[in-house]
Parts: sequence; structure tokens; C-alpha cells
Amino acid sequence: MTVLVASDLDRTLIYSSAALGLTVPDPVAPRLLCVEIHEGKPLSYMTETAAALLAELSAAPAAVFVPTTTRTRKQYQRIRFPGPPAPYAICANGGQLLVDGVPDRDWKRLVAARLAAECAPLEEVRDHLLAVADPAWLRKSRVAEDLFAYLVVERALVPPEWIKALTEWAEARGWTVSLQGRKIYAVPRPLTKSAAMREVARRTGATATLAAGDSLLDADLLLAADEAWRPGHGELADAGWGAPGVTALSEAGVLAGEEIVRRFAAAVARLGA
Ligand SMILES: [Mg+2]
Repeated sequence: MTVLVASDLDRTLIYSSAALGLTVPDPVAPRLLCVEIHEGKPLSYMTETAAALLAELSAAPAAVFVPTTTRTRKQYQRIRFPGPPAPYAICANGGQLLVDGVPDRDWKRLVAARLAAECAPLEEVRDHLLAVADPAWLRKSRVAEDLFAYLVVERALVPPEWIKALTEWAEARGWTVSLQGRKIYAVPRPLTKSAAMREVARRTGATATLAAGDSLLDADLLLAADEAWRPGHGELADAGWGAPGVTALSEAGVLAGEEIVRRFAAAVARLGA
């Protein structure tokens, strides 16, 4: 029996210092392991306990751990998880499937054909974003893997009605808007983590799927899995989002990450026997 474990990364498994959300007194705070260095500086962390549990899970014969992220390949490849390297990884919100670290061309082609058929082109969305964003709060504008666009913003200065208007404009064109930390993502609706997860499940012959995620872009992944968890923080928690088969954890921040790995391990032990 093979259990596929597809987990979102940022603010689900790994946490920047701003996202740690530690509320316990400093002397009893968990020890952290830095799993990502960016430009020579520490960027992302897990608790040491979560790291040890993840290493064990990744090495378990019954489990296939699949990092599942909106990050680009390059951003993903900076992360150094404990344990053996993941045989599959889903990047660019499902647009890139890495097999032993190498992008799968057939998958990329399939995704490109679907996007061309089902939603407005990236150029139109990117141009609109640049036309309507206010330089007062816009810090950066990026296109990821020629698939989707995002803005880095001064979040406190972005008017909620601006987000609402953008969401409506995007929806009419088959795109989704997601607000995560300082980033506003515009992602084609057919570009999903769940489609890529199903492809990995097919290739690995997985008999059960587990998932975790914190943002709107993870909702389809959580719904597609047999069992799923979401942390007590993030876009989904803020919206009070829930669904059958999706457990809303009370833990928030980096401790939610630890609890998620613990739940994965328990489910693998139960389902993978
Ligand atoms: Mg996330």
C-alpha cells in the first residue's frame, strides 16, 4: 500500500521568521531547524521535532512525500528538507512536475494545452495587474514560470475593495486571486495542485492520498485528498473555510507545521499497513 502525502510548503510545513507565530514563553519555545537559505541569510524553518518526523516519513516504504507548492522550481530548490530527496515535487501551483528533480515535459505540455483552452492568457492578466496596481503599495511584480503572475505589496496599504475588484475581474477570465502574506497571486483556475497530485498518484499507484495547506490555492488539493489538514492560521482559516475530510487544526504558526507532520505520520501508519 502506498500513501501519497502532498503538502503545501510555505506556512504549512515551513515558516519564515515573520510567520513563526510563536506565543509560548521564549525559554520553552521549540528549537528550530533552518531549511532554507536565501542570499546568504536564513529564510525558512521547521521545528526540530517536525524535521525529525518528516525525515522518518520520507524514508517510510509506505509513504511518498510530495512537496506541493506555488513556488517556482528555483525557489523550491533552495529548500533542503531532512531525509531522502523527494522523488516527485509539484511546483508552480501544479504547472511543474519534478521527477527526481527534473521537470516532466509531458506534464508541462498537458498543462499548457489546458490553460490555452480554458482561460485568458497570462499577458492580459499581467498587463491588467500592472495597470491597476498603485505604486504607493506595489513593491515588485513577477511572472512565475510563464504560467502565472504575482505582486509583492505593502499589505496594510492595499484597499480591500481593490482585491475584491481584481478577484471579480480575474474570475470572469478564468483566473483566481489569492492573498498570502505580502503576495497577491493571480493564477489560472485550471492550474491546480490537485491535478498534479492526481497525476503523481496515478504514476505511483497510490492507494490513499493525504494533503495539507493554508491558502485558497490549496483548497482544491485538500478537497481532492482522502484526508487533509489545514493550520489554524492563513487564508483558509481566516475565511472559516472547511469541508468534509478536512481537519481544521487549532495550532497556528510553526507548531501547526509540526502537528501536520505528526498527523501525516499517524495516517500513514494506519493506511499504509
Ligand atoms: Mg502556503
